[in-house]
Amino acid sequence: MIEKLLIANRGEIALRILRACRELGIQPVAAYSAADRDLKHVLLADEAVCIGPASATGSYLNMAALMSAAEVTNCTAIHPGYGFLSENADFAESVERSGFIFVGPTADVIRIMGDKTAAIAEMKAAGVPCVPGSDGVLPDDEDQIRAIAQRVGYPVLIKAAAGGGGRGMHVVQSEASLISSVNLARQEAAAAFGNGAVFLEKFLQTPRHIEFQVLADNHGNVVHLGERDCSLQRRHQKVVEECPAPGITEAQREEIGSLCVEACKRIGYRGAGTFEFLYENGSFYFIEMNTRIQVEHPVTEMVSGVDLVRAQLRVASGEPLGFTQDDVCMRGHAIECRVNAEHPRSFVPSPGEIRMYHPPGGPGIRVDSHLYSGYRVPPHYDSMVGKLIAHGDTRESALARMRQALSEMVVEGIQTNLELHQQIMVDPGFVAGGVHIHHLETLLRQWLD
Ligand code: ADP
Repeated sequence: MIEKLLIANRGEIALRILRACRELGIQPVAAYSAADRDLKHVLLADEAVCIGPASATGSYLNMAALMSAAEVTNCTAIHPGYGFLSENADFAESVERSGFIFVGPTADVIRIMGDKTAAIAEMKAAGVPCVPGSDGVLPDDEDQIRAIAQRVGYPVLIKAAAGGGGRGMHVVQSEASLISSVNLARQEAAAAFGNGAVFLEKFLQTPRHIEFQVLADNHGNVVHLGERDCSLQRRHQKVVEECPAPGITEAQREEIGSLCVEACKRIGYRGAGTFEFLYENGSFYFIEMNTRIQVEHPVTEMVSGVDLVRAQLRVASGEPLGFTQDDVCMRGHAIECRVNAEHPRSFVPSPGEIRMYHPPGGPGIRVDSHLYSGYRVPPHYDSMVGKLIAHGDTRESALARMRQALSEMVVEGIQTNLELHQQIMVDPGFVAGGVHIHHLETLLRQWLD
């Protein structure tokens, strides 16, 4: 087992990793920025190293600073969490070249999956269904681009090959705006991701976002842990997630889950990963793979009973998974609400000091958050300050527990989206289950008018 590990992240996921380390007897070391001295996991860690200034570029994205922090504290492994450098193939490569264990897949696999067109090509080869599209980066020739869009059929979606975070996507309704949208998307992609390559996909009008969780070790064992429904999104950012996805049958789960397992074997995947799909009219379409732990992993943990972060650490230590697909037993239903420090109407981030914090509790309730009374939420990072997760035997029971938990939870001093979550949990569409990815934005337009 890894003896000492550097946590190269912040907030709730850093705390989550610290807890898993302690359980396994791994010494956790916190790497923190100058704005993060008061983070809960920094206070709880045996050792903590300041890696740079508040700005993420100088700290959580600073590869050299992170590697020196691991070096001086005698860590043998680095856990990247999510966001920041978690899907940066160059970072994974430097980490392993310097003799540390990177908690995640190999740099080669991250590189392939980070290029969406390469990832789609791999998935097609593995038999995974994909969205009809350009099958690769768009050429320079305008006539050829028009021909591709014509073949795929309007509306189409232009996406950056190196994209992420839902940024830089353009819907094109007809040929009239095709070329100008492609050019705009290329400029945006070059500015945001340092790579102007774009591709094109059929724009699905009202799909659901359904993703499959996989787990693989270094010994050829791969399992899937079913799916999550993450259709409740605002500006392509997930707000509520659940496991399992309402209405998905055991046969569908088995079919798509097995394809994901096969794809993992094909690419030599190791660790935890997620295959994201859009789901429309009974069909799944692969859109991308995330080669890291995800924010919404707790809903899968609650239903499968598998501790994904502990599994990541055990796999990284070279241990076998220790269970097979037949051992996986999904029980009940779990829902997660992402708690953000933001203005409830304008969604503008709301940093500041937490004057009072009361997390909810009771059967089936889990709170993954680094908040505490007196903690000051810094303005420099993502506005998510925690996740509230409710599990129950049925979806109805999980919903009832979530409503109760939301009504108990108190976060004073900053503004949060807790009220929005209360509204969502009684929305007839969400309560019925199976809403599409535009549902929340439609509700917001009604509620905020
Ligand atoms: P990113 O890596 O930037 O998050 P994704 O490919 O995962 O990009 O897409 C993000 C979101 O955009 C999806 O969850 C979905 O809401 C929407 N989206 C992506 N592809 C399509 C498509 N072909 N048709 C309709 N919506 C899509």
